[in-house]
Amino acid sequence: MTDLLLRGGRVIDPASHLDATADVLVSRGRVVSIETAPLPPSAIGDARVLEAEGCLVVPGLIDGHVHLREPGNERAETIATGTAAAVAGGFTTVCCMPNTTPALDTAALVHFIRLRAQETGRCRVFPIAAATEARAGERLSPMHAMAAAGAVGFSDDGSVVAEAALMRRVLATCASIGLPFLQHCQELTLTEGASMHEGEVSARLGLIGWPREAEELIVERDLRLNRAIGARYHAQHLSAAGSVEALREARRRGEPVTGEVSPHHLLLTDAACAGYDTHAKMNPPLREESDRRALIEAVAEGVVTILGTDHAPHTAESKEVDFAAASFGVVGLEGAVPLYAEALVESGAIDWPRLVAMMTLEPARLHGIDRLGLGRLAEGGPADITVIDPQRRWVIDPQRFETLGRNSPFAGRTVIGKPVLTIVDGEIRFDELACRNAPVAPSAT
Ligand SMILES: [Zn+2]
Repeated sequence: MTDLLLRGGRVIDPASHLDATADVLVSRGRVVSIETAPLPPSAIGDARVLEAEGCLVVPGLIDGHVHLREPGNERAETIATGTAAAVAGGFTTVCCMPNTTPALDTAALVHFIRLRAQETGRCRVFPIAAATEARAGERLSPMHAMAAAGAVGFSDDGSVVAEAALMRRVLATCASIGLPFLQHCQELTLTEGASMHEGEVSARLGLIGWPREAEELIVERDLRLNRAIGARYHAQHLSAAGSVEALREARRRGEPVTGEVSPHHLLLTDAACAGYDTHAKMNPPLREESDRRALIEAVAEGVVTILGTDHAPHTAESKEVDFAAASFGVVGLEGAVPLYAEALVESGAIDWPRLVAMMTLEPARLHGIDRLGLGRLAEGGPADITVIDPQRRWVIDPQRFETLGRNSPFAGRTVIGKPVLTIVDGEIRFDELACRNAPVAPSAT
């Protein structure tokens, strides 16, 4: 493995509050040194020099919410293609959701994912295991055994744990194991047949609406149940202003609870569904401008601390149907960095170091993988590094994605900022660094 020297970039490590122009030397999978003064030739040796001037050099990005579809739906995505998309999007670690076929509900399946990821994956993969058998919300899954096999959290994502009594047992078990529970917040009786946010647009389109309360009620119920238990509770893909309000109060009380937002909920509203565009159909649905603004405000305040794309690839057939019949979900990995930057940094809500923290240190802490040195850039730590060109302008073109999914509502959008180099465990897995001074791509019309 060649030694690497990343020279002259703006090195940001939120864990150590580092934000300075520095050189980063990598050898044998480890960060050897981070130096603000130029390194002497003797220290560089025969390392390959990569000029990172004008770029951000940050800990490898972590997406704690992706769907890799393997096993069971390999036509939509595989661990190989999903992790290729991850490194192209600047991610060195992903956590994959258990709504596969079969559901990830045994220790053997947790082992399978980890082995498959070692054999075919381009980045690190940590499984999130199902909290209930077959994600059916009836009986607890073997949670202790799956934790021992390497699961880093529990969720029935795609489905809610609907029953309060079972939810309480799930939270208590998570607390005893020390792993987080990640809830897909959807009150089922309020969303039967619903395909988009309940409001003016759904009324005009004649589609069954999905009210905010479907999310808010579950967030509120879970926080109430967890108050006496104290598990690490995480609300996935927040979409509604009221959910954020409940989270704000719980965090004010000092409870160990977190929330996550996707790029699409930060940038789009239900207006995107107006032409029956199935690429704007997701679960939870896009909501209204007031919700969108509440999510951004929650990030600015530090109420929402984690960014997760909910990367959800689907085959074309499952999207090229009537809006009501189409699958829910959008791909997220390959556009995440510029879309988050647009929603949060360009808008002035937060700065780059905070954005980096929300994509590295914060998810690493949630899943306990900070103990492996992930989510930070430190001498002696693992060389998982992402280089971002914050000025690069490009057009999102799903046809050029590594993911098998083409389902993006952002196709044709001109964005600014791009991951240009992804290093996993000291190895370059994605490299567009040389193109970073390429001519500006034409904007879409
Ligand atoms: Zn979900």
